[in-house]
Amino acid sequence: MSLLVVGSVAYDGVETPHGKVDRMLGGAATYIALAASYFTPVKIVAVVGDDFAPQDVDLLASRNIDLAGLERVRGGKTFFWAGVYSADMNDRTTLRTDLNVFADFNPKLPASYRSAPYLLLGNIQPALQKNVRAQMNGVRLTGGDTMNYWINDFRAELLDTLKEWDFLLINDGEARLLSGEQNLRRAAAKIREMGPRTLVIKRGEYGAVLFHRDGHFMAPGYLLEEVFDPTGAGDSFAGGFIGYLAGRGVAPSGGEIDFAELRRAVIYGSVMGSFCCEKFGVDRFRTLTREEIEARYQEFQNCTSF
Ligand code: AMP
Repeated sequence: MSLLVVGSVAYDGVETPHGKVDRMLGGAATYIALAASYFTPVKIVAVVGDDFAPQDVDLLASRNIDLAGLERVRGGKTFFWAGVYSADMNDRTTLRTDLNVFADFNPKLPASYRSAPYLLLGNIQPALQKNVRAQMNGVRLTGGDTMNYWINDFRAELLDTLKEWDFLLINDGEARLLSGEQNLRRAAAKIREMGPRTLVIKRGEYGAVLFHRDGHFMAPGYLLEEVFDPTGAGDSFAGGFIGYLAGRGVAPSGGEIDFAELRRAVIYGSVMGSFCCEKFGVDRFRTLTREEIEARYQEFQNCTSF
């Protein structure tokens, strides 16, 4: 079933111990949409400038990603982000954030988008996330992502937005900041009281923990032989997670999503996040097949069964 994704579509400059790329396709919505498109039809809401290259449009369109909501600002420049990774690639320093056309992003959904049943709100201003949800009719499952900046400086707006979400995906540092609790179990309990009954706390290379009424589930990180570029791994995780749920038509019943389906969704998220790291930028998604995804899912099963 159709999934609507909102967030940044960008150009990125990235440096890791394996190399440096000055400008390549990136953005949270790009990674989410590419990863989710293996499981379900996707519609993007985002903004770019007229420097956005035809071959990048072609890549997204080739994955059956609906671009009716990709606004193009005449005379404007696409959002640009640059970052450099530490030697172990666990830390990242942002070198540049040129918001460009993204600064005035005010998402307006085309009529054909409003009835999409699944909604993934990428990391943008909480009031805009709320506004996107308000433009939809009959959405079955809503969730998304946020970051330190919104948690610190837009807390009231964020709390108001989160009330309407079924799930939240954040990393461990953000979970501590949002809840004011150092202990992750206690942090999760507090966050679940804020609205999202399903919470996934991502722990980078160490995997992710899913928190739900019926308990918690721990997914390890996939042990890659070589990590080339972790950019977009979190967003690819989100794409695999929601893409799987949308593809299966999973919806909450009595406010709760089926725990077994959620556990599978977390593994698909981990699978997609791990593939993303194997090449620079979105490059791994140019060749990745559904068969490779299923093989790695199976590998996860073999590595964790006892
Ligand atoms: P991740 O590595 O999963 O955190 O995602 C990295 C992607 O997020 C990059 O492709 C960037 O273009 C994008 N990005 C970086 N900073 C921002 C921001 N402030 N707002 C929206 N997207 C961003």
